[in-house]
Amino acid sequence: MGKALIIGCGGVAGVVIHKCCQNSSVFEEIMIASRTKSKCDAIKEKLDGTTPTKICTAKVDADDLDALCELIDEYKPDIVMNIALPYQDLTIMEACLRCGVNYMDTANYEPEDTDDPAWRAVYEKRCKEQGFTAYFDYSWQWAYKERFEQAGLTALLGSGFDPGVTQAYCAYAQKHLFDQIDTIDILDCNGGDHGYPFATNFNPEINLREVSAPGSYWEDGHWVEIPAMSIKREYDFDQVGRKDMYLLHHEEIESLAKNIPGVRRIRFFMTFGQSYLTHMQCLDNVGMLSTTPIEFEGRPIVPIQFLKALLPDPATLGPRTKGKTNIGCIFTGKKDGKDKTAYIYNVCDHEACYREVGSQAISYTTGVPAMIGAAMLLTGKWNEPGVFTVEEFDPDPYMEALNKWGLPWQIADAPVLVD
Ligand code: NDP
Repeated sequence: MGKALIIGCGGVAGVVIHKCCQNSSVFEEIMIASRTKSKCDAIKEKLDGTTPTKICTAKVDADDLDALCELIDEYKPDIVMNIALPYQDLTIMEACLRCGVNYMDTANYEPEDTDDPAWRAVYEKRCKEQGFTAYFDYSWQWAYKERFEQAGLTALLGSGFDPGVTQAYCAYAQKHLFDQIDTIDILDCNGGDHGYPFATNFNPEINLREVSAPGSYWEDGHWVEIPAMSIKREYDFDQVGRKDMYLLHHEEIESLAKNIPGVRRIRFFMTFGQSYLTHMQCLDNVGMLSTTPIEFEGRPIVPIQFLKALLPDPATLGPRTKGKTNIGCIFTGKKDGKDKTAYIYNVCDHEACYREVGSQAISYTTGVPAMIGAAMLLTGKWNEPGVFTVEEFDPDPYMEALNKWGLPWQIADAPVLVD
């Protein structure tokens, strides 16, 4: 049915590639293109002969617009799947527009250099106007809306688990379970243990930037920002058990606040153990999470990038990680004039993911919806021209595909609410 160009070959991309090869009637051909071509060749070698999907590989620096356009023009894909980093979002969107191809990604844009004065001016204005200070927001990618519309192309933003599946859950709740959604609590629980004193489950630089930033939530039409990790709750997660969780800023809150009519409050909580938090606090205190380059022995280094080089590569955590993830959304609202609550969630087992595709569950829960998002575009189920987040499309085919491709969901009525 189609050809996909997959950019990036890290932890998440490894799952995307396996899943595209399983879904070979939709992904007839894929090209894996990344900065380090040897990683692309290694996964091609592993999968060639096990799938009807035709795989080829290429080296590309996705920060280089001309090089990207050359590759896209040569391969002529039906979709470009950005599974590299959020730093590359705008360059790849620009290349898709120039070459006339659909686009998708799993995380919204943030700049690599947060000291860039041109970016900073826009950022500081947004902090003042909107009231949240995260480095990432949708404005940069939403600005492409008209150009994608005029080109008759679709850009699907944030089709991982959170963002991604969580928004499909919201659209499903809005369509099938509620007349009015009042509150949404997104709960991201990782009950997995990799046995290292400290490691992150996806790209360390992106992950640590996210969790060390101030938290924020949406309430009564505006953002409320709080110091990092200052709101803590305990929750008893199905198949995982009791965990401490902390309120974080998260990108899907921004789009859900626009797209779920009349929603009064949206919060996002993620579980962390005390050891993780102590390590992170210590690294932050000594400046290791900084994105500002420092001079070291005559050359500039970015502390957080140096830290990334020291930490375990998330793609290698698979064989060591045991336990389960439980990610979902708790809704309160009204149905047929009565108060109603519901909890839609998925439980995923790290070891089962490793047996299936050689990855831990964080990469798996991101990579499966990335494949599904691309499949929605390739099969013409979601093909309106413009720039969209997951909750803006009909959730039904996506929810059905989650059950089919390894992330089955369940609905609990009357769940325990988070206070
Ligand atoms: P990794 O660091 O494991 O992999 C990133 C890959 O991108 C690497 O192969 C890297 O190449 C490649 N890359 C980086 N820069 C460039 C460039 N300039 N040109 C070409 N390739 C490049 O990250 P993950 O797989 O853990 O994460 C991938 C994405 O998924 C991130 O955007 C992350 O934010 C997102 N994510 C989304 C989640 C969700 O639920 N929505 C959850 C988890 C992650 P090299 O090998 O040379 O370094």
